[in-house]
Amino acid sequence: MKIIIFGSTGSIGQSTLSLIRILKNTQNFKILALTGNDNIDQLCKDAIEFNVKRVVTANKNCIFQLKQKLSSHNIEIYAGEEAILDTARMGADWIISAIVGFAGVPPTIEAVKHCKIVAVANKESLVCAGKLLIDTAITFKSKLLPVDSEHNAIFQCINSENPKTIKKVTLTASGGPFRNFTLSEMANVTVAQATNHPTWEMGKRISIDSASMFNKALELIEAKYFFDLKPNQLEVVIHPESIIHSMVTFIDNSTLAQLCPNDMRNAIAHTLNYPERKKIPIKDLDLTSLKNLSFEKVDEKKFPSITLARMILKTKGSLGVVFNAAKEIALDRFISKDIKFLDMSNLVEKVLLLPEMNEFEYTLLNSIDEIISLNNRVRQISKEIRI
Ligand code: NDP
Ligand code: MG
Repeated sequence: MKIIIFGSTGSIGQSTLSLIRILKNTQNFKILALTGNDNIDQLCKDAIEFNVKRVVTANKNCIFQLKQKLSSHNIEIYAGEEAILDTARMGADWIISAIVGFAGVPPTIEAVKHCKIVAVANKESLVCAGKLLIDTAITFKSKLLPVDSEHNAIFQCINSENPKTIKKVTLTASGGPFRNFTLSEMANVTVAQATNHPTWEMGKRISIDSASMFNKALELIEAKYFFDLKPNQLEVVIHPESIIHSMVTFIDNSTLAQLCPNDMRNAIAHTLNYPERKKIPIKDLDLTSLKNLSFEKVDEKKFPSITLARMILKTKGSLGVVFNAAKEIALDRFISKDIKFLDMSNLVEKVLLLPEMNEFEYTLLNSIDEIISLNNRVRQISKEIRI
């Protein structure tokens, strides 16, 4: 099986490599290409270990360093966004889209045109280009599979059921590090506190997005496109133990849930082995050691990101691009201490309510160039907007 890993140096990328490292003894894997951004040491180490054909860094300033480190190896070396798109054109049996943020959107669209199975971790692809992505997959006869643990759980629960019999989908959320904080305690939290996720080990940006529940907000929109759901079919429930990854309730009121230890290699392996199941090196789920599986409502006063996502779910246009771009800049501004934690949702709301964004409630952008251009415009506005 020919494999490409977009974002190999990140949390999902490393989990994927850890899985392949073990499974390659029994399965025939060939990694064609790895891509990263700044972490050249990790990129080179993995490229050599897995004897890949090509490595790409998104950061053109790193090409010299990359060439130097790999000078004694027969590996193709490229840099820049266009080189990542070109890597998708190598074609693969399985490609994982695990670049963080909007930067992962154009490569995912390109992957769908050239690769047989596209395992999507980059939720921004569905949020910003959901319809385009799904239509492109249909045109090019490729298969999109969800890696995000909630969406992978939903996919497993739906399995071969008739989609028309789905009553509702319940996404679970850990509640993040501030679940038990009051609103006033949340006002002055630091980046370090926000990055410290209670149940999952993930990249810095998604960890902070989990603390603000912007991650769950993006996942609601992601689920709408992945499973073609209506706003009233989607709900979020806080489940602090992160053992049930999501649930699907059918019209006969049967609810199916997917459970497994919180290790992303479960979802990644599900897409890698699909449609089969194979043994993987993660620990067993010991039900008797779980003291409790608990559920709580989301307090949307503390987590207005969920209210904003619901507003977007009800629209038919490209507000997902606006929401995501404003969120990415709000996150940058929080990380650089320019704005406070709770101001991230204030910023996103302010941008969404700008009169010039009204048209995107109805207008659905159908080309990646239009989506990129709106993303750039909203990023600029979000950098300048006063909070
Ligand atoms: P990380 O921050 O750990 O890794 C991101 C990857 O993207 C790295 O390889 C990084 O390279 C690369 N990258 C960063 N900026 C750019 C850029 N501008 N162009 C190209 N590549 C870039 O993220 P995660 O692995 O945590 O998340 C990846 C995606 O998967 C996100 O969309 C996230 O929402 C989603 N996801 C993650 C989960 C998790 O458990 N981590 C769970 C579910 C979904 P470098 O390291 O060299 O900087
Ligand atoms: Mg998730």
